[in-house]
Amino acid sequence: MNAPMNPLDAHKATMNEVLSRQKAAHLRDGPPSVEKRVDWLNRSIDLLIGHQAEIAKAVNADFGSRSPEATALTDVAGSIGPLKFARENVAKWMRPQKRRTTPAILGLFGAKAAVQYQPKGVVGVISPWNFPVNLTFAPLAGIFAAGNRAMIKPSEYTPATSELLKAMFAEAFDEEEVAVFVGGPEVGQAFSGLAFDHLVFTGATSVARHVMRAAAENLVPVTLELGGKSPVILSRGADLATAAARIMNGKTLNAGQICLAPDYVLAPQEDVETFVAEAKAAVGRYFPTLKDNPDYTALVAQRHYDRVKGYVDDAKAKGARVVEINPGGEDLSQQEHRKIAPTLIIDPTDDMKVMQEEIFGPVLPVKSYRTIDEAVDYVNAHDRPLALYWFGTDEAEKDRVLARTTSGGVTVNDVIFHVAQEELPFGGVGPAGMGAYHGHDGFLEFSHRKAVFQQLKKDIAPMLGLRPPYGEAIRKYLAGQIKR
Ligand code: NAD
Repeated sequence: MNAPMNPLDAHKATMNEVLSRQKAAHLRDGPPSVEKRVDWLNRSIDLLIGHQAEIAKAVNADFGSRSPEATALTDVAGSIGPLKFARENVAKWMRPQKRRTTPAILGLFGAKAAVQYQPKGVVGVISPWNFPVNLTFAPLAGIFAAGNRAMIKPSEYTPATSELLKAMFAEAFDEEEVAVFVGGPEVGQAFSGLAFDHLVFTGATSVARHVMRAAAENLVPVTLELGGKSPVILSRGADLATAAARIMNGKTLNAGQICLAPDYVLAPQEDVETFVAEAKAAVGRYFPTLKDNPDYTALVAQRHYDRVKGYVDDAKAKGARVVEINPGGEDLSQQEHRKIAPTLIIDPTDDMKVMQEEIFGPVLPVKSYRTIDEAVDYVNAHDRPLALYWFGTDEAEKDRVLARTTSGGVTVNDVIFHVAQEELPFGGVGPAGMGAYHGHDGFLEFSHRKAVFQQLKKDIAPMLGLRPPYGEAIRKYLAGQIKR
């Protein structure tokens, strides 16, 4: 008698079976028409509209506290936007792109060169907990526009939302089109070992190493959307009130649990105190209270609460000045949820954990600099970040900072917002990730760019003497080529 399969092997077998069926369906049906792709995009949009209330409820249950407006903004509207953008543009994106022939004269005689955009087939999507709906649906905009099917592994940290996603997709899609598998790291591990035609992973850099290693077994190409410590550089002369209002809005959105959250600030030393005062004022306007205020999001799990609290305690123990912004003066030590007040850490040192790890919480170190080159050198002495933010009016300095630093993307005079630009690629660099998606770049990322060259009807190579037996004609031709 065969021993019963352990649950993980059983899970793996099911995922493999679905992958085989999706691949077979892709071969059976051929590349989907534009109408089919628009239908997939529309079904996704309808799911989001139809389930918006349940989504808000599930996310709130998973986080302990997250306002329905925040979820509607980032996860519902924030997913519908990219899907609609893809729907509007997919027909244009799908068109083969003509290229010039080399040498150009071939084209004159009727040879053709073109790039055809072919669906890759089946794309795997591993999504994180911080925007559990957005980071599942936004990749689908490009995946569907490019004519692919999808298998999705959402996060175990948001179990209610992950179950809801599974039920939603099952309602509107056949498993041959979209299938969702819930589970933790073991399921993620098995999932990332599947022979997809492409795999998108959004999550932590440390986990991405495992994902890429697993994908390498099958040479599956990966898009890695990771995180890191995204700096904000305040230039001398920046409008500090506006900068602080925008930075603190970005830092408190989802309680800082955003891959693109401004991680730390580099400020001219004479501006630090003004920045601190303006940051306090901004937080006071947004959140008169924190504890039971649904607009202020909780940390997703005890592990993350302890981690972020640990950064503050460690910085305090190592001598940093800590400014807790608690506008209502509430006692946050006893609370139903896991809320941490927005906290500034003034002039941290590099031996503090808060300057070593991605914070992913509402804590903002403010480090002073004397010269802008000092700030640039600090950024360059650390891992390349997912984003860099620069606030100021000195255009020459802006150009210099942007040219001398490498980050996935940049927003000037605000934070995070480059992610909302559908015409811009979104992605990391170095430890912040590889590959990019959104808009047309998403379509390209999930398409195979097939090179197609169509030769002349007439076989002219023998006339030109380019075939053996070689003689004077080819030697003359080569002499013309092998020179500067
Ligand atoms: P995580 O890496 O812990 O988890 C992400 C997903 O990977 C989950 O679905 C998880 O189950 C799965 N997973 C865990 N271990 C795995 C393994 N060994 N093999 C395969 N899959 C595995 O990340 P998280 O805590 O959910 O999210 C926070 C991180 O994500 C932060 O670092 C943040 O910066 C990053 N992030 C990046 C972006 C982006 O677009 N660049 C967006 C959001 C979050």
